Amino acid sequence: MIPMVNLKAQYAEIKDEVEQGLAETIANCSFILGPNVHAFEQECADYLGVKHAIGVASGTDALHLALIAEGIGPGDEVITTAFTFIATAEAIRYVGAKPVFVDIDPKTFNISPEAIEQAITPNTKAVMPVHLFGQPADMARITAICAQHNLKLIEDCCQSFGASIGGRQTGAIGDAGGYSFFPSKNLGAYGDGGLVVTNSDAAAETIKMLRNHGSKVRYYHDIIGYNSRLDEMQAVILRAKLKRIDRYNGARRRAAHRYSELMADLPLTTPFEDGIGEHVYHQYTLLCDRRDEVMKALQENRIASAIYYPVPLHRQNVFKDECAGVSLPNTERVAATCLSLPICSELDDQTIEKIAGVIRGVLKG
Ligand SMILES: *Cc1c(COP(=O)(O)O)cnc(C)c1O
Repeated sequence: MIPMVNLKAQYAEIKDEVEQGLAETIANCSFILGPNVHAFEQECADYLGVKHAIGVASGTDALHLALIAEGIGPGDEVITTAFTFIATAEAIRYVGAKPVFVDIDPKTFNISPEAIEQAITPNTKAVMPVHLFGQPADMARITAICAQHNLKLIEDCCQSFGASIGGRQTGAIGDAGGYSFFPSKNLGAYGDGGLVVTNSDAAAETIKMLRNHGSKVRYYHDIIGYNSRLDEMQAVILRAKLKRIDRYNGARRRAAHRYSELMADLPLTTPFEDGIGEHVYHQYTLLCDRRDEVMKALQENRIASAIYYPVPLHRQNVFKDECAGVSLPNTERVAATCLSLPICSELDDQTIEKIAGVIRGVLKG
């Protein structure tokens, strides 16, 4: 079976380094907020070009804690996209705010700046773009809108570790950014993990307290916090992978370009790169009217494929009543035809050719 991501092949190359680091951690018994978490945070801050990087328990928590630290709460509206993973909107609801879903650009699949502007009301307090599938959202225009309307800008970077725009990393542009280290992400742990980045000293201090029971000094608690720390063992694994992230992302980009080259003449739409940001291809997602047939043929050839995302958030059971009047035509059209193919840093040319060949067989056969 050709999987969506080949984590086994990636592990083979980092095995010695990871196993040595894990053995040292177990021998030292420094399991919570230990030296690897602190070192990883500093390495992430340096890599991402931000003042503060704070390890937390998941990407969902990263977004949740960032929203609290930015002062978003009950009655506030947060404008976001419906074409994303549910966690984007869950984080908004956790703080008592209302996710306001707006449409996407049908080419990049990212939130539309015009749609953001049209959705602004006196209750709007923040915008949360998602750099979907690893392609940066249109941050120049979104930043300008947020500045003009005095809105907080919190970036969902859960799919975009290493993606940049004009040399600036995603997450380093807005007031805060949230990353996920779920195993299948571009920078993936061997369990859950996440990171909040910000250039604000005050927000960073709040997030550090929030992740650790509202405490700065052990057993002295200033606010109600959470248990949401990045695990020390995961930090060992993430440090080994962070060193290699540019190579991993470069290999993903090359694989994506090879797919697009091989399928350029087929009746489907290969991923669009806007030429402004650097896409890191968390997913390679195309549009195809004959999606069901293609998926079936891939499955028969033991090739994984997936639909990210079959149901946009405004049509999910949990939101469909409050979103009854919401119509997002681009989102709905893309959700009906999108298909993601296997992609990872270990995908070789031969495998890409095989996968593209199966798709060609369906569409040109
Ligand atoms: C993965 C993901 C999240 C949540 O991250 P977890 O670490 O699984 O909590 C949030 N938003 C997007 C867009 C994601 O892809």
